[in-house]
Amino acid sequence: MPDQANRKQAIWSDGRDWQAADATVREAIDASPHRDEFMAVLATFTAKANRHETVSVRWWSAPRVYVGVDDARHEYPFNGRALVSFDLTNGKWASHDSEHRYVFARRGWTTFIGCLIGYSPPVYGERSGREADAAMSAPAGTTPITVTGRAQPFSGFRRHWLSNGWFIDGATRRSAYLGDHKYTLYEPGGHPSGCAGLRGSAPTLNLALAIANGQQPCGRASFGCRKLAIGYRPVMVHGREARVYYCEDHAPAPEAPAVPAGRTRHNLPGFARAIAPLPKPRAIEAGTR
Ligand SMILES: [Zn+2]
Repeated sequence: MPDQANRKQAIWSDGRDWQAADATVREAIDASPHRDEFMAVLATFTAKANRHETVSVRWWSAPRVYVGVDDARHEYPFNGRALVSFDLTNGKWASHDSEHRYVFARRGWTTFIGCLIGYSPPVYGERSGREADAAMSAPAGTTPITVTGRAQPFSGFRRHWLSNGWFIDGATRRSAYLGDHKYTLYEPGGHPSGCAGLRGSAPTLNLALAIANGQQPCGRASFGCRKLAIGYRPVMVHGREARVYYCEDHAPAPEAPAVPAGRTRHNLPGFARAIAPLPKPRAIEAGTR
């Protein structure tokens, strides 16, 4: 819990962004021609924050920075009271002049954020008492994660927010795909830099949602299979164990022969490559990933 002294100071992430020559966000802002405007606005955030709220500054993806307000009294993701991007290239806050921008506010911060950006920010809701009660009474880990609300349009992708605060980005251009996969699953703040951490990818929204729920698509998903895995084959890829997941349709024969030498990953299922003789398949136990 932040004390009186802390709340007058923003917390600066010490994550480094390779796109900013491995600078921390503080180093990049100190070197920016927009430093003074940024620090003046940041001071208004910390002045407004109540004693339960903390203001933090972190990289989104250089040259963009996030300033966020969190309140530890609320459960995740409702602890996020406001978030707004700052573009180091033009010194603007979630501006339509920036190629990428991001902003939201919750109760208590909507007017402040609206004045800062010059338009009404998306206002995210609060957890209702009934939702809170349902979450508390459900056995841990059994509440399915679902897609909430409408997808937010961005340049090159559409963002689908999930009920656990994670999100799935659906590419709207082939160049934004991750490999063969149109949908990528992220946990906000899940990367050590403070940016969103990649948690998986899939060719369909439903399969990406299944990953969020701890399930695995069949390794043939890139080739059109839409079933969930019932087991996996451990394989060695560049000296590390990886897994090739399979559904009931694509399970290997009980005594699958080793892959003949000379075959490449292009004619093997999923992401398997440079495969050593196949170890025995393993079933996925209920409730595990
Ligand atoms: Zn399959």
